[in-house]
Amino acid sequence: MKVIGLIGGMSWESTAVYYRLLNEGVRDRLGGLHSAKCLVYSVDFADIERLQAAGRWDEAGEVLAAAARSLEAAGAELLLICTNTMHKVADQVSAAVDVPLLHLADATATAVRGAGLSRVGLLGTAFTMEQDFYRDRLAAHGLDVLVPHADDRALVHRVIYDELCLGVIREESRTAYRAVIDRLVASGAEGVILGCTEIELLVAPEHSPVPVFATTRLHAEAAVAASLGAGLSGEARVGAPRR
Ligand code: GLU
Repeated sequence: MKVIGLIGGMSWESTAVYYRLLNEGVRDRLGGLHSAKCLVYSVDFADIERLQAAGRWDEAGEVLAAAARSLEAAGAELLLICTNTMHKVADQVSAAVDVPLLHLADATATAVRGAGLSRVGLLGTAFTMEQDFYRDRLAAHGLDVLVPHADDRALVHRVIYDELCLGVIREESRTAYRAVIDRLVASGAEGVILGCTEIELLVAPEHSPVPVFATTRLHAEAAVAASLGAGLSGEARVGAPRR
């Protein structure tokens, strides 16, 4: 079993879910008292959020690259960045270490394609929904990505930072997200990517008329498979994804 290094704390609410899912995944596969070998480097999210809001991505990337180097030095054999948004700096993080980085968008796109879908809605932070780094990565797998309209994007973003990252789960926000999902489906989405690691704290499959793709769960499942010897395909590593 390979040691999984988690670059987490963005937010810790979802990193805690990663930790549980990794351990459950190893237990389910190996049985008995087996559990995941893992290391967590949990950053102070306030520092990262400030750099995001200021557009200082290189500096945020250096914080995560330093975390990656620490995890590698401590024995991590593969790494996860436990947030969709911070995959904006995935190449910078990957370049700082020799161990492979398991890219969240690749694990997600593989699941979407495996379900036989190609046109998907994307919910996440404004950075994830509006910038190219994440959508292009999905598109490179042949996915056609729809994002909500501007008002809906603002709502989805606000709920992530003002509620979900603080552990606040509101029924009215769940209702609002359901309406956003319904509008994506009306626009042609065959499935919806929950492209922020906290969204699955709020939205479950039963809240959507189409399949949802929960990125925390998918990323953790891919990490368990890689840890237990499924290996990392070229596609799962950071770098140019293959079509
Ligand atoms: N965890 C979130 C994500 O998956 C948002 C927090 C962040 O900006 O990293 O994008």
